[in-house]
This record gives sequence, C-alpha cells and structure tokens, in this order.
Amino acid sequence: MIHRLSIAARFRLRRPLLPFILCAFYAAPVLSQKCSVTPKQVKLGETLRITCPPEFSSATLNGRAAKLFPQSSGNNFGLLPISVKDVPGPATVTVSHSDGGSPQQLSIVIRKTVFPSQNVNLSPEIEALHSTPEEIALLTGFKEKISDARYWQDPLAPPVSGCVTSPFGVKRLHNGKATGEYHGGVDQRTPAGEPIRAVTAGIITFAQQFNVLGNAVGIDHGQGLESMYLHMSKLVVTPGAQVQRGDILGYAGSTGRSTGPHLHWVLYINGVNVNPAQWMKLQPCPRQPKPR
Ligand SMILES: [Zn+2]
Repeated sequence: MIHRLSIAARFRLRRPLLPFILCAFYAAPVLSQKCSVTPKQVKLGETLRITCPPEFSSATLNGRAAKLFPQSSGNNFGLLPISVKDVPGPATVTVSHSDGGSPQQLSIVIRKTVFPSQNVNLSPEIEALHSTPEEIALLTGFKEKISDARYWQDPLAPPVSGCVTSPFGVKRLHNGKATGEYHGGVDQRTPAGEPIRAVTAGIITFAQQFNVLGNAVGIDHGQGLESMYLHMSKLVVTPGAQVQRGDILGYAGSTGRSTGPHLHWVLYINGVNVNPAQWMKLQPCPRQPKPR
C-alpha cells in the first residue's frame, strides 16, 4: 500500500510539467516552418506541389490560383498546374495567409519543353462531330467544381496497361493541317472490351455519351485533382458513385471522335490539363513520333 501511494504521489508531482514539455516539443517546428514547392525546376504541363504551415490558404502563379487544404499531417497542401501554354523562364509562386499576414514568395524555373507533332487522319464523318452547347457546359462545370474533400492518394495507377501511342502535349495536325491544339491527355493502346480503371479514389461526376468524347466518365478526386476517360464501348458506373483506385469504370471502345479502339484519358489540376507521365510510369509504344 505504501509503495502504491508513493507512485501516485510522484505522478502528481510530475504531471504539471507534462503540458509544458509537449507544447515546447510540438510548437517549435511549426513556428519556424516555411512553405515549400516541388519540383523547383518544372516542365510545361507538370504540376507543382505546395506544402505550407496551416495559416497559409492559397498559392498563385501568373494569376492562376490554387487553394491549400488542411492535411492529416497538420500542414496545408495544394496542387498548382503549369499549362502547356505557359512561358518558360524564372517564375514566382506567391503563397498567402487567410488572415492577411505577409505572403511568402517561392522561386521556381519553368523549363523549356519540346513537344513532338503528330498527324491524325480523320474521315469526313468523324471530323464533322462537334460538341453540343449542353456538352460544353457540362464539361466546364466538371472542371470548375472540385470537392474540398481529398479522395486521391499517391501513387496513381495507369487506367490500362497498354503502351502510350500518343503522349501528352503533342502538337496535333488533322489530315496534315495544323489545328493549333495540343494533345491534352494520353492515348494508350487498348483492345476493345478491355476494362478501364480509376487512377485513384474519387466520386463519379458524369458517365454518359458525348458526340466527340463518346462514352465518357469524369471523376472528382478532390482538392484540385480530376480525371476523365473517353471513347468507351460500355459504361458501368453512375454519377455520384464513389470509386476506389483500380475500380472498373467501363470497357474500351472507339465511340466519339476516334479512329480505332484505344483509351484517351486526361488529368486536370484545377481545370488545367496536366501531364499524367509526371504522376505514374507509362510505357511508350516502340514507334513514337520524332520531335521537330
Ligand atoms: Zn487522345
């Protein structure tokens, strides 16, 4: 009995010290922490990852803003896209406080990036396909409305195993004529009927037929990240459904503006097309177009 009492007495003596010790241990690293950005040398079409102490709520670059979201680590985190059409050279990311405190400037370099050209021969019927105003409105809404909840996790998985027939950023020619457009996604060789899988977890925003996109699925992965999968023969998901990484969305086909069975898929960061090759290992097909 005497022994037990003495332990309790010792504990009571030590207890008042504990909160002080814990505060000192946890508070010091947060107070000294600055925002960071990776990669510091970024190519056109790549994504910047910004990590900040919790009082920072947004990041901007060339007028493009990204929200920073609280993470389980205690930091705030956000994704900022570098567009294919951005100008290479030194650039500054500005991270701002929610309460008006002084912002931080993060220096990066946007590297010169060479994209190859590729011609696609389209039949008159395929070239005549155009999006309806309703389809355009639906896609605009998809790109603009991204949930604050985070469903996505690293690493993302390729939606199919086939090699890449057309990488991201390729300058597109239709029937030999320059279109002024670039390839906003990745084409992977995929036989008709092959399952198409979600690259990471998310909520299905749309799963329907479009004139140009064919049977298509859009997924909101949360906190700035979205993905879209086109030209499918059959869809097996419905809007509002929650999917996990690797879940089947539908089966490969050649619906919409497509010249043969394949998967064209897209990653969006805050509505800007980005290069999926930065997010996962994709195997190029043996014959690739040569850069010009
Ligand atoms: Zn494509």
